[in-house]
Amino acid sequence: MRAPPARQVRRPRAPTEEENAPITLDKAQRINREITAPEVRLVADDGEQLGIVPVAEALRQAEERDVDLVEIAPLANLPVIRDLVTDMREFFDKWARAKGSFVPTATRHDDFAVVRSDKPERRAADAAIECIGCAVCYASCDVVRWSPAYLGPAALNRVWTLVNDERDGDRRTRLAAVAGDAGCHACHTQMGCTERCPKEIAPTASIAGLKRLTARAALKGEL
Ligand code: SF4
Ligand code: SF4
Repeated sequence: MRAPPARQVRRPRAPTEEENAPITLDKAQRINREITAPEVRLVADDGEQLGIVPVAEALRQAEERDVDLVEIAPLANLPVIRDLVTDMREFFDKWARAKGSFVPTATRHDDFAVVRSDKPERRAADAAIECIGCAVCYASCDVVRWSPAYLGPAALNRVWTLVNDERDGDRRTRLAAVAGDAGCHACHTQMGCTERCPKEIAPTASIAGLKRLTARAALKGEL
């Protein structure tokens, strides 16, 4: 198993209640005894590389220096440009490859569409729609790490909302886009994305739904 990097960070002053409000990276980053990796690539707070060490040893060294141990591996699938600023191009290119844009069937001259809130498709889309594109799920997905072409949980979750949207006019193209080797069937259902999503979305469930729809479409000869 590849050791994720962890960094020693100087302890800040105690945060105020307002500062303590949950932020996206709270879900992405584990600190000190929350870190579950057996070993880490340790970087000191002054930037010195301390090598790969068991996490217990990293914690001991952090305590000795009176600093926190912060896991930075959750951002591993996004190339770092500077500090925590990451290159998001590949992440959003995959949304485009998955056909993650709405294709309307109505024109501006038509009335507003009414989508009943009790329909199962509407409920399925509602459960997945609040994505903020933060990429935390993508950064924590092992399949993205092993297979860089894999579309990833966020793009697939987006497609799930669209194939459940009765106003959308490109369902078949979308299913074809996510049915290939880099699509939903590559997901190993390890749940890392669902555990980490700060919006409490379950991309694993959305991907499972896409697996069912693509299998059905293939059996009907629609793909
Ligand atoms: S459930 Fe699938 S998409 Fe989510 S982290 Fe695991 S392998 Fe990646
Ligand atoms: S599904 Fe969740 S973790 Fe993934 S990009 Fe959307 S909000 Fe972020």
